Amino acid sequence: MARGPRRIAVAPVLGLYVHIPFCSAICNYCNFNRGLFDADQKTRYVRALLAEIDRKGDGSPADTIFFGGGTPSLLEPAEVRSVIDACCAAFALAPDAEITLEANPETATRDRLRAFRDAGVTRLSFGVQSFRDEELLRLSRLHSAGRAREAFQQARDAGFDNVSLDLMMWLPQQSVEQWLSSVDALIAIGPEHASLYLLEIYPNAPLRDAMARSQWSLAPDDDAAEMYLGAMSRLDDAGYRQYEISNVAREGLESRHNLKYWSDGEWLGFGCGAHSTRSGVREKNISSIEDYIAAIVAGTPVESDRRVLTEQERFEDAVFTALRLTRGVNLEETRARYGVDVWDRYGEDLRPFVDQGMLIYDGGAIRLTRDGMLLANEVMSIFIGPPVR
Ligand code: SF4
Repeated sequence: MARGPRRIAVAPVLGLYVHIPFCSAICNYCNFNRGLFDADQKTRYVRALLAEIDRKGDGSPADTIFFGGGTPSLLEPAEVRSVIDACCAAFALAPDAEITLEANPETATRDRLRAFRDAGVTRLSFGVQSFRDEELLRLSRLHSAGRAREAFQQARDAGFDNVSLDLMMWLPQQSVEQWLSSVDALIAIGPEHASLYLLEIYPNAPLRDAMARSQWSLAPDDDAAEMYLGAMSRLDDAGYRQYEISNVAREGLESRHNLKYWSDGEWLGFGCGAHSTRSGVREKNISSIEDYIAAIVAGTPVESDRRVLTEQERFEDAVFTALRLTRGVNLEETRARYGVDVWDRYGEDLRPFVDQGMLIYDGGAIRLTRDGMLLANEVMSIFIGPPVR
């Protein structure tokens, strides 16, 4: 009879996520929780954020803050400082905390970036997406490749020595060579960290209409695999270390905040639509900007969903997310934390993936090979629910 997982309690150091839902324009593929920038609404929103942080603060240790969006770089540096100060007042923030601000290149100036740094931001993450102007136009992005390069230089001039760039692959009309030319451009610039995402076009995305109108097509699936493998191999050669399916970094400069999501960590989210996961409870805030502000003003809960995860769900989440990491699932840690011997229980189902070269089992861990990362969902499906037999 299958036993349920038994979790050993530990108290992880928190990550703090702050959602900034404003954008200068809405990109034609975007499915995030965001809206058009409105200065008055932004002022009221930041006030609400400060109140929520104060409300939820309990002095617990925290060592990361991540401003995500949306376009957090649309905030004024003084507003970013007020949020960081509120986090310091409400939590025991580590002196060497990683404080990341997502930024769009078109919002960057040397002075603004310097002011963000003075406010306490330690790391910038630029949404570059492509170093080819025609691709940026197809995605309705507001910046050009030249502007992205300039923003990166401005970040350096402002003193940022930890900068991440996002790129998206499998764009409409993009060939493998064109994608790899963007990867080469990124390597030439030399950020400390890079995230490579596959473009996913949701059902009602305006980009779908644009593609139909302009007869733009996507490269075949096999090309998407070639794009991924080709990019990772170039980044390897350039000295980056892949640590997660979509992320590479210079040694020691992995995103500490995002690692919490993949390492069975705990985090609190502030702002509309933000998620929190702590002590086996998952919460989601109200999505609408105005409804979120109204709940804060009225003193009513800002959470629209709250779910206590079962032990099995916590175990599954821990294994899924750890499989995204190149270091994989540590079997001893999982046994200590959940009382489950992963290989004993799932080994027979996992063995075919090992035989196909998608998974490595070395006695102490299981981890996906790079080929296995292309089909990660197939491996992860083994862990949904109790083992097959
Ligand atoms: S800038 Fe980012 S969050 Fe804003 S609309 Fe574009 S993709 Fe979405």
